[in-house]
Amino acid sequence: MASYADARHSDGQWLVRIDDIDQARVVADSDQHILSTLEQCGFEWDEIVSYQSQNLKYYEAALQELQYMGVTYPCICSRKQIQEKLGKKQIKNGIYPGTCRHKSEQINSSLNHKYAIRLKAPAADISFVDQIQGVYSQNLPQDVGDFIIYRKDQIFSYQLSVIIDDFQSQITHIVRGYDLLDSTPRQIYLQQLLGCPVAQYAHIPLAVTEEKLKLSKLSQAKKVDCSLKTLVQAAHFLGQNCPDAKDFDSKDDFWQYLATYWDINKVPRMEKQMIMV
Ligand SMILES: [Zn+2]
Repeated sequence: MASYADARHSDGQWLVRIDDIDQARVVADSDQHILSTLEQCGFEWDEIVSYQSQNLKYYEAALQELQYMGVTYPCICSRKQIQEKLGKKQIKNGIYPGTCRHKSEQINSSLNHKYAIRLKAPAADISFVDQIQGVYSQNLPQDVGDFIIYRKDQIFSYQLSVIIDDFQSQITHIVRGYDLLDSTPRQIYLQQLLGCPVAQYAHIPLAVTEEKLKLSKLSQAKKVDCSLKTLVQAAHFLGQNCPDAKDFDSKDDFWQYLATYWDINKVPRMEKQMIMV
């Protein structure tokens, strides 16, 4: 809702992309289910729906470009080995200790190998101004470490695939959940390396359960019911001064109102509980 309202308010386009890169985890027809739920809620997307599984050749080309720049290396460590290495002096969040950093890389165009590829974290702070959260800064070596861009199970990482998708679709504004705020500096660094324009980011609060779990299938959230009442509830959650459901004639009426009066400055910064009734 936040990204849709923001795009419509600015006369922008709103695109839908299905993140189906991890084919082993894709549930058959879940894309159709997602799209029909969006439709029932009254969302209208511009352009045809894109699928990550159709973009593999672009991810591959980007990975190779990074490899030729010499900013990557193969990592053969298992999760267990990394944990052992970190041992008791566990650095914040178990940051990868750089064990394989000295390894030279044989660039392998088949990508049919059983090791991960990591990107060397640059020794610099990466900062950006989030439209909702304000200035956010990270020191990649201290806060994240050398991060995986190609997984051992032969899947391109989220960090890499998502910036290539955004570049391919010429995305200028990204409105997404707060849980992705700390991924953003990694994505900005990748954008800088690959010469992709850096988008404008806005991270909205997460809707969480009483146990502070993000509302999702995993936290056994109820199915989205697509009613006008739920849409209004979501707009209120996003801090918008939106009349009650009974004051709208239809969902179209609601969306027109929200597109007109959307104000990103009213979106609260922190996570909030949202109990669906
Ligand atoms: Zn390693």
